[in-house]
Amino acid sequence: AQPQPKDHLARLNAEQRAAVEHGDGAVAEPLLIIAGAGSGKTNTLAHRVAHLIVKGADPRRILLMTFSRRAASEMTRRVERIAAEVMGDKAAVLTEGLSWAGTFHSIGARLLRDYALEIGLDPAFTIHDREDSADLMNLVRHELGLSKTESRFPAKGTCLAIYSRVVNAQAELEPILGKYFPWCAGWAEDLKKLFAGYVDAKQAENVLDYDDLLLWWAQMCAEPAIAEHLGSRFDHILVDEYQDTNRLQAAILTSLKPEGRGLTVVGDDAQSIYSFRAAEVRNILDFPSLFPEPARIVTLDRNYRSTDAILDAANAVIGEAAERFTKNLWTERRSAEKPLLVTVRDEAEQANYVCEKVLQEREAGTALKQQAVLFRASHHSGPLEIELTRRNIPFVKFGGLKFLDSAHVKDLLAVLRFAENPRDRVAAFRVMQLMPGIGPSSAAAAMEAMERALDPALGLQFFKAPARAEADWPSFVELFSQMRTKSAWPADLERVRLWYEPHLERIHEDATVRRADLIQLEQIASGYPSRERFLTELTLDPPDATSDEAGPPLLDEDYLILSTIHSAKGQEWTKVFVLNAVDGCIPSDLATGEREEIEEERRLLYVAMTRAKESLHLVTPQRFFVHGQATRGDRHVYASRTRFIPDHMLDRFSRVAWPPPSSAGAARAPQPDIRVDLKARMRGMWR
Ligand code: ATP
Ligand code: MG
Repeated sequence: AQPQPKDHLARLNAEQRAAVEHGDGAVAEPLLIIAGAGSGKTNTLAHRVAHLIVKGADPRRILLMTFSRRAASEMTRRVERIAAEVMGDKAAVLTEGLSWAGTFHSIGARLLRDYALEIGLDPAFTIHDREDSADLMNLVRHELGLSKTESRFPAKGTCLAIYSRVVNAQAELEPILGKYFPWCAGWAEDLKKLFAGYVDAKQAENVLDYDDLLLWWAQMCAEPAIAEHLGSRFDHILVDEYQDTNRLQAAILTSLKPEGRGLTVVGDDAQSIYSFRAAEVRNILDFPSLFPEPARIVTLDRNYRSTDAILDAANAVIGEAAERFTKNLWTERRSAEKPLLVTVRDEAEQANYVCEKVLQEREAGTALKQQAVLFRASHHSGPLEIELTRRNIPFVKFGGLKFLDSAHVKDLLAVLRFAENPRDRVAAFRVMQLMPGIGPSSAAAAMEAMERALDPALGLQFFKAPARAEADWPSFVELFSQMRTKSAWPADLERVRLWYEPHLERIHEDATVRRADLIQLEQIASGYPSRERFLTELTLDPPDATSDEAGPPLLDEDYLILSTIHSAKGQEWTKVFVLNAVDGCIPSDLATGEREEIEEERRLLYVAMTRAKESLHLVTPQRFFVHGQATRGDRHVYASRTRFIPDHMLDRFSRVAWPPPSSAGAARAPQPDIRVDLKARMRGMWR
């Protein structure tokens, strides 16, 4: 039988349904869905979008913003499915129009290109990732002589972090320095000079960094005429994970829809974990009072994801939080399986424990893909990765090193970027210096020649390359001018690879492996309509080193998920393991001990625990390895379980010492020297 139009609503509970039907397809007063983990917020949002479309809203006029490209494409797929249930084949045509779905940054980039001419921006701008931005910051620092004045001037990465924080928080430099970078407070004047120079350089080179995408967008919206034009392009604007937006993002939303009509924001204040990027939990808490008309507020308190045993434990952790809007959740999913607090001797044993459990669960019928291992920081999974590799257990890692971080992939993209925007100095320097004989000064001279010439390609052609580079130069010039005049997408990428391969072989011993990555990149590229869109999207949200998008790392269909807690947000798995549930990791010993920061660490643990559907293991090594910070080198420290699991809660967990005392010692070979293994591996992987 054909599904009835109301079927998709019948699956929802009364509150979810109220949120979906709010305004019943029309542009209505602002809507806030604020609710705990696993209560169906994202699901409700997808139903709402589908419902809008079913009720006749134009999908091309719906703007949907989420926190990652993956989340955005999952959301559009879900909307397509729901709409198809109701409308059948007609839905596909409609949902194809749902093209304004993405992250704030990627939507910002698209809109800035659209309105570039209106705001005095060259629409051919290229985008710098964090590393490129730090490189440019460094160039400017040298040019201003700031690195030489005294040796203790903040490092390029720190300068960029300060700059970024100031921009995203829309704050003054001094208070930001005082609060987050007190050791740099004495450099305020020089930092201002540096940042001014940095901004000039970006403009001269027609590049934008990540923060610019929000900053320029917000600035553009400060012009009432443009804000109105832009706001009127979209009838509905919907945002997921709103608790992790910053001030700029909130300002953008309110200037697009000053009346609030057509706005839907969704989030959970108990899951706010991005304050280090200047996210403001106040955004979601203040949302209802921003507009002339009161916002409709929907709260959800039934959790559909986790068993009661897991939820009780998660509730107990967040229940101790100092400040919180959302209430405790309840569930109908009963289970006798309590979460486990597993004590192991060290990280090697932790890795061993996880491997063994994962395999047991797979035997018992839970596919690897249904299991995830979560951790505070990317490097915490090092020992586990080694053990998984040793045992041939396939895995995919989210939130760690990105595919694009590898030198050879960056080289290739830099060539594309240079062709797209010949003024981009960081790209140009990177590309030219691939050729032996060309260093920073000849690269700079070539750039000047380009600027003087009528056409950049002619400038390059007539530039007299240093003797050692003479042989390489013509083919480089030819590649460049071909891409400028006869660009073909995605064939460009292959051209670049063919040009790059001899250099690859010269620079890297493992050229064959790296070449395979580049071919994989061509596959990814074929999914994008143009060079510009490919560069923009990949720079803003690079695929993970081993993500689905980049193709599975091994031939196996099934693989275990490894993820930082930050990258796990919004997702769920049947079995979840949390590594290093110890003080010093969660909360991190980098947290200063200020209450706000400690509270954020508590929420982080809450996010981790609420990813689990059926089983949850919190592993606490008694001894763990701390990577050196500036002041204290690498070392082992003794740890105790995280302070967020209060004593009175412990009976909720089953405590397990592992391996069982009888076999302890005898079961394991001597502990390997993990430090050496990991570092060697990192060196091999990334230049
Ligand atoms: P998070 O805070 O982690 O982002 P969320 O609130 O967005 O969680 P969802 O991911 O939307 O929650 O939903 C959690 C799980 O509950 C999903 O598996 C979803 O399919 C399921 N679910 C949501 N609503 C219902 C419902 N009414 N009936 C049955 N299952 C539901
Ligand atoms: Mg969600």
